Amino acid sequence: MGPILTIVAVFAALGLLYQGRRRIGRLESELSLQRQLTKDLKALHDQEHSRAVAQQQALFNSMIEGVLLLDHDGRVQMFNQSLERLFGLGQDIRGKTIMEAFRLHELSTLVNRLQKEGTVLGNEIHLPGLEARCLQVNATAVPDRQGSRQASILVFHDLTRFKQLENTRREFVANVSHELRTPLSLIKGFVETLIDGAKDEPAVAMRFLQIIDKHTDRLTFLIEDLLTISRLESGQIVLNLQPTALRTIAGRVIDDLQTRAGERRVRLENRVPEKQGAKVDADRLQQVLFNLVDNAIRYGRADGTVIIGGRPGEAAGHVELWVHDDGPGIPPEAIERVFERFYRADKARSPEQGGTGLGLAIVKHIVQSHGGKVWVESEQGKGSTFHFTLETHGCTCP
Ligand code: ADP
Repeated sequence: MGPILTIVAVFAALGLLYQGRRRIGRLESELSLQRQLTKDLKALHDQEHSRAVAQQQALFNSMIEGVLLLDHDGRVQMFNQSLERLFGLGQDIRGKTIMEAFRLHELSTLVNRLQKEGTVLGNEIHLPGLEARCLQVNATAVPDRQGSRQASILVFHDLTRFKQLENTRREFVANVSHELRTPLSLIKGFVETLIDGAKDEPAVAMRFLQIIDKHTDRLTFLIEDLLTISRLESGQIVLNLQPTALRTIAGRVIDDLQTRAGERRVRLENRVPEKQGAKVDADRLQQVLFNLVDNAIRYGRADGTVIIGGRPGEAAGHVELWVHDDGPGIPPEAIERVFERFYRADKARSPEQGGTGLGLAIVKHIVQSHGGKVWVESEQGKGSTFHFTLETHGCTCP
């Protein structure tokens, strides 16, 4: 009985062991399945998280405004590419304090205020340096992930261009007022003198009336030029591009200005090649050449020569025209600026020479709207040559 019992007991024990092993095996495989599942879930979560972070970063980077996220300690947690560009950051500033990252007192004062007030809107800060910038900052404190401590988000708008435009507009209004006031006060002065008795002396009265007439013309030209500039800038002038013989237009300008040239004994020459043509707005081109030749007569040498010339442009599909005078030339420091509105190389003499200060600004506008560019070459004492190019639009000869 004994050995049989032992054998049965051994088999039973083996059976139990086997079952136990099987259960352990099952448990183990369940456990490893669960582990795998957890791993997969974590990988999925990580993937989703990195995708969300990448999406958030892409969203931030697509913004024109600079965005800066500070953690509850006021250290940089995240920033976008616009912010990097605005501040010209050359290094990773994550983990740094505002002062360490930007070295700007204005900004660190703003962050201190933000921590006390919760929101700071419309604050302007100025970035010094070669390319000085003016930024508007809107900042707000936001609860962090735990919902208790505060993180901060700062949004920076670049106002530099807007401020520049505002300045240009202010300068323009000041210039226009000045240009209008000068002839108006002269006219008023002469009229008052006439009323006070000068009208009774025919010779004096005639001289005064001629002066009044001259200044009235000046006002009219100024207003005409202002209207032209305003129409050009607001895009109201639509170019009527037609195949045009450039020599013909140069000839018309010479005819129109012959009398004025005669007053200074200036010879006008048309050297634009016969066969040179382009698809242009003929009236506008005439205005460009008129302004350039008119200047050449006015600022060039009395008894001198003014030449209008032409040749194929250096860039394919362009022609180049030029107006040359043999006058005193333009000082080097004025060369870059003569195309600015109301800029005058010789501030004392130009207004009395009859200009409005807008002639070359109009030239530049019209040339650029024809897809061309304009520039001047000048050597003092040797004259000036104004060059400009025009797109031919495939037209070589009308
Ligand atoms: P303005 O009405 O004063 O002539 P413009 O815009 O036509 O205004 O010209 C701007 C300035 O450029 C002029 O005041 C003058 O000082 C200078 N300038 C223009 N053309 C010439 C030239 N051919 N020679 C010398 N100076 C010139």
